[in-house]
Amino acid sequence: MRTAAKRLAKAQRALARTVKGSGRREKAKRRVGRLHHEVVLRRASGIHRLTKQLATGFAVVAVEDLNVAGMTASARGTVERPGRKVRQKAGLNRSVLDAAPAEVRRQLTYKTSWYGARLAVCDRWFPSSKTCSACGEQDPRLTLADREYHCAHCGLRLDRDLNAARIIATHAHLAPPTAPGSGAASPRRTPVERTLLPRPGRRSHRRSP
Ligand SMILES: [Zn+2]
Repeated sequence: MRTAAKRLAKAQRALARTVKGSGRREKAKRRVGRLHHEVVLRRASGIHRLTKQLATGFAVVAVEDLNVAGMTASARGTVERPGRKVRQKAGLNRSVLDAAPAEVRRQLTYKTSWYGARLAVCDRWFPSSKTCSACGEQDPRLTLADREYHCAHCGLRLDRDLNAARIIATHAHLAPPTAPGSGAASPRRTPVERTLLPRPGRRSHRRSP
C-alpha cells in the first residue's frame, strides 16, 4: 500500500507540472485516478485480510474503544497559543488514519459474528498504555516517545504496544452476542467491499456441465 501511495504522490506532482488543457495533462490525470483507485483497493484488502485473520483465528478479539476524532485532531493550535510538535503529530495522525481503526472495528464487529468469535471492547477512558500489565500500577508520565514500558513499581520492561494489548485483553468486556438474523450478520456493504468480497448466501452462477 505504501509503495502505491508513493507512486500516487509522484504522479500527482507530475500532474501539477503539466500545462492546462494539454494532452499530457489528460494522460497524467488518468494516471492519478488509476493510482488513486489502486491505493484504495490495496488499503481495503489489507484491512480485510487482517480482520479475517483475527475473526477466524481467535475465539475472542479484544479492541480498545478509540476516540479516533480526538486522537487525530491537529496539533496546530492558535496564533496566540501555537501547538507543539505539530509535524510529528501530523505524521502520527497519518499513521493512525492509515491503520483505519474505525474500519477495523466495524469489520471485526460483523466478522466475529460471521465466524463465531466474540468481540470484546475495552473502555475508551481506560489508560491502557499507562497501566502496567504485570502489577496494575499506573505511570501517568509515559509519553508516546517511550517505546518501552518500564514499571517503576514492579520493574517490568515490555514493548509499550504489547503492554497496552495485554491490558486491553484483561479489561475488555464481551459485547453481547448478536443473534443470527438480527441484522448484524448482514451489514450494509461499502462499495469497496462489494468489489472485494463474495456475496454471502449466494451460489456462484457457474453453468453445470
Ligand atoms: Zn508493574
